[in-house]
Amino acid sequence: MLKGKTALVTGSTSGIGLGIALQLARQGAHIMLNGFGDVDGAKAAVAALGGRVSFHGADMSKPAEIEAMVRACEAEFGAVDILVNNAGIQHVAKIEDFPVDRWDAIIAINLSSAFHSTRAALPGMKARNWGRVINIASTHGLVASAEKSAYVAAKHGIVGFTKAAALECATTGVTHNAICPGWVLTPLVQKQVDARAAAAGISNDEAKRQLLAEKQPSLQFTTPEQLGELAVFLCSSAADNVRGQAWAMDGGWTAQ
Ligand code: NAD
Repeated sequence: MLKGKTALVTGSTSGIGLGIALQLARQGAHIMLNGFGDVDGAKAAVAALGGRVSFHGADMSKPAEIEAMVRACEAEFGAVDILVNNAGIQHVAKIEDFPVDRWDAIIAINLSSAFHSTRAALPGMKARNWGRVINIASTHGLVASAEKSAYVAAKHGIVGFTKAAALECATTGVTHNAICPGWVLTPLVQKQVDARAAAAGISNDEAKRQLLAEKQPSLQFTTPEQLGELAVFLCSSAADNVRGQAWAMDGGWTAQ
């Protein structure tokens, strides 16, 4: 379905970003990966699916590096047809204890980076009259939790940015949508599970159970594969008129 298209997925060396990159690659898209950590492992996993894969190490807190990554993708593959703004970090603390540098980093990586990458990729998408921008927000783009002020602010911000961008492109073939996952068991969430287990002196399994029971009625983690399938749908022609939505996949979290 996506043969001949190129997808740039930020923060795709692990977790949700890698899951989405793999599903887009299964549909035939060329992939440019980005992120820190196990770059070779991520590249090998995508390459095993048979398509072309590349990598750019832009730090998503640095606007000039983000623009350079978009240009590198256009130079290597001829286009950025699908842009998945996924890179993100978390920090959990009360507002009065929240380190200022963590606030700035979360706003930069989880919110402003999507403006910088969209700004750079949009002219090419508009010129070809086809594009898909998928912003990975969160249930925290729709509702809040205590001690996650920066994350909640950034994720609500990216949902708003998605709506504004969708309206600007409403009469073009370029769509902008957000995906709002509930709990997904990735390294980002494993850290929160570990912290809960350590603080309460409980097992890892019990910490996971409690985490889900508090928020996610299905008591199941959403998986990167499921989120990848949703991204594939948003890239399909069936989704041509899905615009400016914040699509939850959260086991019922925001239905409560
Ligand atoms: P993860 O920690 O597994 O992956 C984060 C990715 O972002 C990694 O590839 C990492 O290298 C990259 N990254 C971090 N800082 C970066 C930077 N400055 N520049 C470039 N890359 C950077 O986390 P995840 O859970 O897969 O999270 C992915 C996205 O999904 C995030 O935006 C997160 O907020 C969102 N999300 C996660 C969950 C969840 O439950 N895991 C739920 C809702 C939303």
